[in-house]
Amino acid sequence: MTWSKLNAIIEQNTSFLVSSHISPDGDCIGSQLACYWLLAERGKDVVVYNADPVPRKLSFLPGAQVITTTFPRRTFDVLIVLDASNRDRLGWDSSVPVPSCVVNIDHHQDNTAFGDCNILDSTVAATGQILYALFSDAGISYPPHVAQALYAAIMTDTGGFRFSNTTGTVLRTCADLADRGADCAEVYRHLYASDSQNGLTLKARIWSTLAFHLGGRVCTMELPMGLINEVGAEYGDSEGMADFTITAEGVEVGMLIKYNERETHFSMRSTGRIDVGSIARSIPGGGGHMNAAGCTLYLPLPDAMRRLLAILEGTLE
Ligand code: 5GP
Ligand code: MN
Repeated sequence: MTWSKLNAIIEQNTSFLVSSHISPDGDCIGSQLACYWLLAERGKDVVVYNADPVPRKLSFLPGAQVITTTFPRRTFDVLIVLDASNRDRLGWDSSVPVPSCVVNIDHHQDNTAFGDCNILDSTVAATGQILYALFSDAGISYPPHVAQALYAAIMTDTGGFRFSNTTGTVLRTCADLADRGADCAEVYRHLYASDSQNGLTLKARIWSTLAFHLGGRVCTMELPMGLINEVGAEYGDSEGMADFTITAEGVEVGMLIKYNERETHFSMRSTGRIDVGSIARSIPGGGGHMNAAGCTLYLPLPDAMRRLLAILEGTLE
């Protein structure tokens, strides 16, 4: 049903812009590359654009070089938005023209169904999982590099098959993707074991800020944005650090806090039943999933921290 709707849009149109959210992660990039392949294979005119560059560790995925950060000043028949719950998450300049047909494929619980065609499933671990299901429904066979892109998408959003969204479906899907040629060890190495030396130095500096709050139920680490340039690292090098904030015994909410003088972003994680998605949504622009979410307060770190800890104190009764 959903495949036939998407298929009709693909068949009836010629030019496609494929985009995803700011600070793209493995689910964005992997899903975009699979989508690019599907459209290019059918001879469509496709541009893949993101507001932010492909993180270094994902640039090994075949085709990653087609993703541009230069906004194409031209028209397209269709915009396909992957892994973004609302239009603002694209990080586009508000003056840019949006194609008249928008397809939205996503797994965020707080998706606003902003597309003309919305293919949404908040029960799955990754947008890559939705694309896998669409390809399977359509009986499409795809080359190993597409299987690898989808595998990287799912591996990223399950935290390397460690989060509670690692279901039987996830593992069956990934087993099938491995059979189709995804190189699991290679994806693991690039995603989790390929820090640059400066990137690892950045992580060491972030680790050194480790702190516990509210009787040890909240753990934080901090990243002043200026530190990235100071140590010669890049933005994507801090990826994965938020996941460590939730690893200590007794901690229910973990936060990696990225800040400059004006704004403070909280990358939140939780265990069990604590819903950081709803905590993030209580702040304008915030959102995400139950156990992984984010929000920004337009305040300097100490004020933002006070606000957020007060919210958490009320939540962690
Ligand atoms: P991360 O902490 O890994 O950047 O993001 C965790 C999850 O929360 C992802 O699904 C991401 O899309 C979402 N997220 C992170 N920051 C924000 C934000 O500021 N606003 C919204 N709406 N979602 C966010
Ligand atoms: Mn995702």
